[in-house]
Amino acid sequence: MTRTSAEPGTLWIVATPLGNLDDLSPRARDVLAEADVIAAEDTRVSRKLLPPREKPPRWVALHDHNESRAVEELIELMIGGRDVALVSDAGTPLISDPGYRLVDRAHAAGIRVSPVPGPCAAIAALSAAGLACDRFCFEGFLPAKAGQRRKRLESLSRERATLMFYVPARDLVPVLTDAAAALGANRLAAVGRELTKRFETIRRDRLEALAAWVQGDPDQQRGEAVLLIEGATDEALARSLDTTLLARELAAELPPARAARILARVGGMDRREAFALVESFRDA
Ligand code: SAM
Repeated sequence: MTRTSAEPGTLWIVATPLGNLDDLSPRARDVLAEADVIAAEDTRVSRKLLPPREKPPRWVALHDHNESRAVEELIELMIGGRDVALVSDAGTPLISDPGYRLVDRAHAAGIRVSPVPGPCAAIAALSAAGLACDRFCFEGFLPAKAGQRRKRLESLSRERATLMFYVPARDLVPVLTDAAAALGANRLAAVGRELTKRFETIRRDRLEALAAWVQGDPDQQRGEAVLLIEGATDEALARSLDTTLLARELAAELPPARAARILARVGGMDRREAFALVESFRDA
């Protein structure tokens, strides 16, 4: 695909399998077979996808630690007429993966950017989870620290769209437990684990029940997972409005522990969540 004219090359954004190599599309295979340069997160992983080639491509590693240098090198190559294919270790580049700066710089430099669509763990999980797909909100990875994670989940409690998170399966129990506390134990949710691989599991249940199920089966704590949680319903939002008013009144009249106990009972809330709500009015 090398050009002799001054025409710049194309930046191809190539989605690759999540685990099942048969999910590499024929077009993705063609683009990888012909690209002058392949930019990969881990070149050892991506080499396995490459069809036999007479002339091997030039490989450029592009990851969080060398991004600015690698981006400049790739932009120069494309300005010089080379076609570059960007791949990540699995799924669609840029989706919780490197590549945003490269695409941003390519647009700024007038280089054509073209997607070769294919697997993406979030979309694969959503398509099989049995939760509403008309609106969804991709949140990527949650913070690793428990306090920050809970805050993030609480900040999403009024979101109506289906929530999507990337979660290493070893973190599923604490994440599901925190989600149950922040969003309600009875929210419907689904875990898609090891999608397209031999031990794929997709399970839909209430948050609290899902946490107990994962806790009880160490196999569910291995590998990679997507967690999907149904958005807030009208009913839940109306109830949370009432509990906010109730919390304010209780906080004004009673000591915090007593107010939180009543709020948890009447509002169907987790005790810790109720206490935090009462405390927020005491500070106000
Ligand atoms: N760019 C990728 C995509 O398009 O899905 C995501 C890359 S991100 C670094 C890796 C995360 O994606 C994992 O921690 C997991 O949450 C999710 N993931 C990747 N492969 C998966 C699979 N086969 N099954 C379930 N989740 C997967």
